[in-house]
Amino acid sequence: MRVFKPSYYDGFECIADKCKHNCCIGWEIDVDPDTMIRYMTCPGELGDKLRENISLEGDCPHFVLGENERCPFLDDKNLCEIISHMGKDALCQICSDHPRFVSCIEDREEIGLGMCCEEAARLIVTNPRRVELVGEVSDEDAVIFNIRHMVFDALQNREKTIDERIVDVMKMFGIHLPQKKWDIEFLKLERLDKSWTGRVMSIRGHGHELKNDWSVPFEQILVYFIYRYMAEAVYDGRYNERVLLAILSFHMIREIFKRSEETVDELIEICRMYSAEVEYNEDNVEAILRALEN
Ligand code: SF4
Repeated sequence: MRVFKPSYYDGFECIADKCKHNCCIGWEIDVDPDTMIRYMTCPGELGDKLRENISLEGDCPHFVLGENERCPFLDDKNLCEIISHMGKDALCQICSDHPRFVSCIEDREEIGLGMCCEEAARLIVTNPRRVELVGEVSDEDAVIFNIRHMVFDALQNREKTIDERIVDVMKMFGIHLPQKKWDIEFLKLERLDKSWTGRVMSIRGHGHELKNDWSVPFEQILVYFIYRYMAEAVYDGRYNERVLLAILSFHMIREIFKRSEETVDELIEICRMYSAEVEYNEDNVEAILRALEN
C-alpha cells in the first residue's frame, strides 16, 4: 500500500504530561481485538486493573472512564500507566494512532495529524514552510492529485493575500460560500464542550481587525482541511462541498479568532476546539457538507 503524508508529519511528538487537553480525558477509548487478548492475559496487578476497567457494553470493548471522564490508566501526573509498566507497544490501536488519522483512498493511504491534539495543531499552525505531500504518485492518482495540487498551489501563493487566494480557488471550481447564518448552523451540531457554544456565538458580536499578518498560519489551516477532506470526493463526487468545507472551517476559525486575544496560543486553541467539536464528529461533518449543498 502506498502511503502519503504532509511534509511536517514526522515532526510530531506527544507532549504527554505537559498537554492541557489530554486525549485520555473526555473521549471514549475503544480496545481493538488484538490488544484485548493481551490485556485479558496480562498478569499481576495491572492485569487485574485492566480487566476491571474494560466494559463490554455496546459495540466495542472500551475503557470505563473515571471521574471527570479520565481514562482509568491516566495517573495523577497525567502519564499513562500502561506505557509506564508495559511500554508503548502495549497501547491499544486507537491510543497508539492518535492524533494520526488515515484516509484510505483507492489503493493508497493518506495519513496526517488531526488538529484536535494541541501539539499537532501547534505543529501545523506554526509551520513556516509550504506543505508538500510526501509519497510516490502513480498514474491512477492523476485526477485527484492534479486537482488538489492546483488548490495547494493557489492557497500557498504567498504573493497574494489569503482572501485573494481563496477567491482564486473558488473561481477554479465556480463556487461560492452560501450566504447563511453559519453561527446557527454550527449551533445545531452535537457538542462536546459547553464553552464551544460561547465561541460560536461570539461571531455575532463585533470582531476586531487583526493587527498582525496571520497569512501563513491561515494558509496552513486551509491546506490541512483540503488535505483532510478533498480526496474523499473520489467516492462521493462532492468536490465543491469539500473545498467549501475547508474554506468555511477557515472562515469560522478566523471569525472566532477576531473576537479573541490575538496570540498564537489562542489560534491553536481555537483550531483544537474546532477540530474536536466539528471534524472529529462524522455526523457534524456530514451536516455541514449538506448545509453547503443548498
Ligand atoms: S492530545 Fe496530543 S499531545 Fe496531548 S496527550 Fe494526546 S497525543 Fe499527546
